[in-house]
Amino acid sequence: MELSEFPENIRDYVIPEVNGKYEYHCLNCNKIWDIDHLLYTCPSCGYVLMIEDHHSDRLKQLTDIQWHRIFNYRKLLNIQGLKGIFRYHEFLGSVLPLDSLVYLGEGHTPMIEANAIFQKQMGVRFYYKNDGQNPSASFKDRGMACALSYINHLIRSEKLSEVLAVCASTGDTSAAAALYGAYLAPHIKTAVLLPHKKVTPQQLSQPLGSGAKVFEIPGVFDDCMKVVEALADQYHVALLNSKNAWRILGQESYSYEIAQDFDYELSSVALVVPIGNAGNITAIMNGFIKFFDAGIIKDLPRIIGVQSNHADPVFRYYQEKDIQKRIFKPVTVQPSVAQAAMIGNPVSMPRVIDRVNRYNEMSGKENVFIVQVSEQQIMDSQIMANKNGHIACTHGGECLAGMLCAIDNKIIDNQYRVVLDSTAHALKFAGFQDQYFQNTFLPEFEINPKIELQNNPELISPKEAPVPTPGTQLDPEKFQIFVDKTSAEIASCLQLKKRTT
Ligand SMILES: *Cc1c(COP(=O)(O)O)cnc(C)c1O
Ligand SMILES: [Zn+2]
Repeated sequence: MELSEFPENIRDYVIPEVNGKYEYHCLNCNKIWDIDHLLYTCPSCGYVLMIEDHHSDRLKQLTDIQWHRIFNYRKLLNIQGLKGIFRYHEFLGSVLPLDSLVYLGEGHTPMIEANAIFQKQMGVRFYYKNDGQNPSASFKDRGMACALSYINHLIRSEKLSEVLAVCASTGDTSAAAALYGAYLAPHIKTAVLLPHKKVTPQQLSQPLGSGAKVFEIPGVFDDCMKVVEALADQYHVALLNSKNAWRILGQESYSYEIAQDFDYELSSVALVVPIGNAGNITAIMNGFIKFFDAGIIKDLPRIIGVQSNHADPVFRYYQEKDIQKRIFKPVTVQPSVAQAAMIGNPVSMPRVIDRVNRYNEMSGKENVFIVQVSEQQIMDSQIMANKNGHIACTHGGECLAGMLCAIDNKIIDNQYRVVLDSTAHALKFAGFQDQYFQNTFLPEFEINPKIELQNNPELISPKEAPVPTPGTQLDPEKFQIFVDKTSAEIASCLQLKKRTT
C-alpha cells in the first residue's frame, strides 16, 4: 500500500527512522564498545556481549496503542526490507538504513493451533510456531538476516570490504549463513565448519548448494566451535555464530511476532523453546523484556526451556535452587535426535544467566523454567505431533515433550495458551524418523519405537501380473491386468467395500 493511503496519524511512523544508538555491552565488566567494527567478545575481559540501544527511552514516547497500530499497518507496506524481521526495526535494527536490510523471506512464520482432539489429549490449549518455514528451514535465518544486514551496512559505508564469513554449526547455522552470504556475493564469501557425520544429509546439502566452502571436522559441535573461535581471534573473518550479538538481536523477532499474533495480550501465554547453544532462548527473553520495557506488552509470558537428558548443561545448572550456589559445568554430550541442540558448553550461558535474572525480576516472580526430557519422549512427541497435521522437527517434538513435563510439574496448567517452537522443518531430520519407523536406532540413543507410531511403505507387486518397467510399455491387455490386480490388492489391504452401483 502507498504511504498516502495510510491514515494520517500513522503516516509519520510507518516507515521507521534510523535513530537508535546501538553499542556492544559486556555482561561481565559492563564496558561499552562501539559497533563500528565487528566484535564478538569484550576486548577487555573476553566475555560475551549484548547489543543495547542507548536511545531506547525514545521508544517509550509512543503509547502501546500507537505501537500496536504501527506494527499492524506496517504489514501493508510494500518495502522489501521491512517485510521480514525488520517490521520491528526500532527494536532490532534501528542503526541500519533501509537500503542495507537483507530480506530473503524470513520471519512471520505461522502459528498453528493444534486440532481440538490433540489439544484435549494433551490437556492444554497449544500452538506450533513453524520456524521451519523460514527460507533455510530453521529459525537461524532470523539472526542471520540481522547479522548480514549489519555487515552489508558496513560494506556499503566502506568500513568493510571482502568479508569472509565463518561459522561452526550443528547444521542449521551453516545453512542460514551460506544462504545469506550467497545473496551478498561477491562481497561476502562463506566458510562453514561442521562436525563430521553429526549433521543430517539435508543440512549438509544446504551450504554446499549455496556455494559455501564446507569443512568437516572430527568431534562434536563444541570442538568445531573452539576451532572457529581460534580463527576469529587470529584472522580477519566475520564470525556468524550466535556468539555474534547481532544474531541474538535478529532472533528477538520471534517474540515480537508472538506478541503481535496474540494482540499483545500475553498474561496467560507460555512458550516452550529448545536449548542448544542458548542463543535462541536469550533472544526470546530479551525480546519480551524490550517490549515490556517500552510498554507494548503488559505481561511477560512464561518461558520454558527444554533440554534432552543427553545434552543438558543448562537444566543441570538450574537444578540448584539456591542462586548463590549455582555453578555452571559443561557436560559431555551423548547422541541426541535433537541434534541441533546437542551442545555441552553453550556459548550464551552467561547471557542466559543474566537475562533469566532480569526476566524473573521484571515478572515479579519466577517466570523462566528449564525442564528435561528423554530421547524417547522427543521422538514419540514429534511423531505424534506430525500425525496431527504439524511439521515439527525433532526439536519441535522436544518442545511438546517439554510442555507435557511442564504440566506434570505444575509449571503450567490448563489456563495457559502454549506456543511450541518447531525450530526447523521436519524434513531436515527425516533420517531420525526413518530410524524410528524402521527400528534402527543405535542403542546409545535409548529409543524403542512404539509400534502404533511407526509407519512404513508397503510394496504392492501382485503375483502373476505383468508389471510396467520404465522405458517399455505393456500392451493394453496386459496393462489392464496389471491395473486390475494391483487395485484389487490395495482394496484388500484397505478392506474397501465394493461399490454396488
Ligand atoms: C540452533 C538450533 C537449536 C538450538 O538453538 P540455540 O540458539 O543454539 O539454543 C534448536 N533447534 C534447531 C533446529 C536449531 O537449528
Ligand atoms: Zn568485559
